[in-house]
Amino acid sequence: MNKIILASGNKGKLQELQTILADFAIELMPQPKTPEYEVEETGTTFIENAIIKARHACALSGLPSIADDSGLVIKALNGEPGVKTARYAGIGCSAQDNMDLILEKLMPYDDKEQRKATFVCALVFMRSATDPLPIIAVGQWHGAITREKHGDKGFGYDPVFWDFKHKQTAAQMPNALKTQLSHRGQACVKLKSKLTLLWNN
Ligand code: IMP
Repeated sequence: MNKIILASGNKGKLQELQTILADFAIELMPQPKTPEYEVEETGTTFIENAIIKARHACALSGLPSIADDSGLVIKALNGEPGVKTARYAGIGCSAQDNMDLILEKLMPYDDKEQRKATFVCALVFMRSATDPLPIIAVGQWHGAITREKHGDKGFGYDPVFWDFKHKQTAAQMPNALKTQLSHRGQACVKLKSKLTLLWNN
């Protein structure tokens, strides 16, 4: 079975990708939890950061690799928090600090139309560290930022991310629905179809 390294130590991400890629004869393994696998995410886009992580994991392991990078893009804040989504309120900040900061910054914007936001996930597959043509899959989940937090499921910015169609926040919806709608779920499905084309040709 061909081995692929996942450039992440997150167990949830590993399981989600293992499930979606189960039809392929591959073994997806997490990258070792050693400091040399940590890499500075210096890109200004999610795609650049995913490529940086995938390339680094390929270089160290000698294996093909998959990496992801995700975050929130808010129109009224010129795309912020963007690649700084995890640490928007400062290094070591909590999810509550991050949400409080965007709620404060969006205070002047009244209606949901002005508070539009998109969750983005970029997934990248690289055959080697020098792969000139990475496979890139991007998922987007369009919604808006609420004025207050609602719900206690999920993680990160879920309590303030409003889904227009289902009229609830990501933190109020059942897990299965979030997986179906989410940026990560959509990116996984796209990556699967791109890998199917790649490996069947
Ligand atoms: P990562 O690149 O997957 O680690 O995501 C970066 C940051 O984006 C996380 O620390 C979260 O704050 C935020 N984020 C990504 N995906 C989600 C989501 O599905 N719900 C809420 N927050 C998310």
